[in-house]
Amino acid sequence: MTSLIEIYRRFPTKESATAHLEKVRWPYGPECPHCGATSTARHAEKGQADRWQCWSCERSFSATVGTIFHNSHVDLQRWFLLISLMLNAKKGLSSCQAARDLEMRQKTVWSMMHRIRAALVDDGKLLAGLVEMDEAYLGGKPRKRNRRDDDTPSPRGRGTSKTPVVGAVERGGRVKTKMVEHDEMTMDDMDAIAREMIDAPRSLVTTDEYAGYNRLNRFLTHRVINHSVAYVEWDMFAGQFGPTHTNTIEGFWAIVKRALVGQFHHVSRKYLPLYLRELSYRYNLRHGSIDLDGVLHLAIKPQSA
Ligand SMILES: [Zn+2]
Repeated sequence: MTSLIEIYRRFPTKESATAHLEKVRWPYGPECPHCGATSTARHAEKGQADRWQCWSCERSFSATVGTIFHNSHVDLQRWFLLISLMLNAKKGLSSCQAARDLEMRQKTVWSMMHRIRAALVDDGKLLAGLVEMDEAYLGGKPRKRNRRDDDTPSPRGRGTSKTPVVGAVERGGRVKTKMVEHDEMTMDDMDAIAREMIDAPRSLVTTDEYAGYNRLNRFLTHRVINHSVAYVEWDMFAGQFGPTHTNTIEGFWAIVKRALVGQFHHVSRKYLPLYLRELSYRYNLRHGSIDLDGVLHLAIKPQSA
């Protein structure tokens, strides 16, 4: 666990936070991000304590160049504290709350949180074992309540104006998600997403009866739960592989929906992938320890755009 107070004790000053980022980024000593040279020295000028001078290309640099912390006027200590707040907030953390906790402006914190989310990429390893695949419709504004709405059932699931997201999860393991367009829910699309997410020969995959999943059995072992009949089924494989259900992925969707409504306040399609990254990252950590350095290793990778 990396609690707020622990971060505060470990990094009492911005200099100590900078020294830590240098250690994480350059375990074998500073390396010039412009030319790759290792012949470097501390910048000689006063007030430039976090900067280095490259002897090869003669440019100066700091450990934040090319990271999510680059060109930020906020010192690294506060960045570390914000990362800790985000990792520890099981139900998600609103930028308003974080701004109060860190005594900063909400707009500044909001953009910092988006930079952190953008860094929380998936480890790229395929899911394997007992895997559940499902889709959810997320985001969008809450519907206005009026009399007409009370008469007509509000659109739910497939066919709403919300954003479709396809997800897969290992029972007791990791989750992956992908935001798609409304017209990207065909059998071809589901096949492609399953191949992107799941190690087919090493998995037993359960979905509901949605027709988009009808061809999965061409390349992986596929069980279907018919939700109009039951939510959990015990078939002939249940003794070895557990009953057929999609409760795990539905549990993840419930976490996402609660966070989107409760903390993130109705996320638009533009930002939904960032929130999904954060929520998936935190879900995938829940068995491991919450670790600042894990996020720092992602944060120092060169960012694309
Ligand atoms: Zn250089």
